Amino acid sequence: MDQRALFEVQRLDTAIDQARYGAAHLPERGALKDASARLVSIRSRIADLSHEQGLLGTELAGIEKRDTEIATHRARLERQLKTVIAPREAEALQHQIATLVSEREGADQRGLEILEAASVADASLTETRVDEIEATRKMAMAEATLHDAETEADRVIEELSAARANLVSSIDARDLDMYESRRVTHAGVAIAEIKHGVCSGCHMEISVSELDAIKRLPSDQFAECPNCTRWLLR
Ligand SMILES: [Zn+2]
Repeated sequence: MDQRALFEVQRLDTAIDQARYGAAHLPERGALKDASARLVSIRSRIADLSHEQGLLGTELAGIEKRDTEIATHRARLERQLKTVIAPREAEALQHQIATLVSEREGADQRGLEILEAASVADASLTETRVDEIEATRKMAMAEATLHDAETEADRVIEELSAARANLVSSIDARDLDMYESRRVTHAGVAIAEIKHGVCSGCHMEISVSELDAIKRLPSDQFAECPNCTRWLLR
């Protein structure tokens, strides 16, 4: 059994796992999500402002229409006023005219408020459309950056996978199967190293007598950690 070659396979497998994890958690993806959320929020604000403009426009048109009606009505009442003789009738007409004038004044006041609100909404809309252009540009940039990062991550994974394929072609299939099933059993670490008398897989100390026994094993045979049963590289 080629222990060094299998250990190198494990190194590549770990690197591939890390690269895949990295590819699945690219920070560029979060940045794109943020840029997209910002654009959605700006567009929603544009829709709100446009809606508000529409409402103000409709209300103003109503006021203008009512103004015309009031003017017509008032002109008619004033014509009538010139022809009536009875004081009570004249008084009643004058009262109606006064009511119309008061209504007109109220409407004009509201009309001014609307014009002011419309002007504020116009300015906000202009400003928000500028924000939209900037946010659209940033989103396109975030998309391009993510695309580059994904391409690079794929390239790294492909490169590592190619190196692994090349390496395993020279390894006995049964040894590779054993390695792979052990890698599953031992949370990705089938082969551990002995570092200062400690198993790098379970971090437990290996006794001197056990170390001695391990040293005496044939070189083509993996020793096993007495604690976690991982293969131990010598
Ligand atoms: Zn161990």
